[in-house]
Amino acid sequence: MIKNLVEDHVTAAYATLRPHFPAFCGCDLCREDVLTFALNRVPPRYVSRREGSVVTEVNLEKEQSRAAIEVVVMEALRKISVAPRCGNRGGVMPR
Ligand SMILES: [Zn+2]
Repeated sequence: MIKNLVEDHVTAAYATLRPHFPAFCGCDLCREDVLTFALNRVPPRYVSRREGSVVTEVNLEKEQSRAAIEVVVMEALRKISVAPRCGNRGGVMPR
């Protein structure tokens, strides 16, 4: 099974950062737009994973990679809360 490790990290960053963006809608469409935006901008880190075996994670835990992913996810959250495709602006827009 081939897996992009970055996907997990982007999803985790999304969960951490989302509460900081009250204007962000958060529906499935907006969530996927944020994840897609981020995943298209962060280089993938693929690993092959066999059922039941533990993979030594590619050095993605390095603070630097984590910070880089969070920056991209924040950018995505900002962009999509300004112009959500679903048309729901959620709450008060920060200026
Ligand atoms: Zn939405």
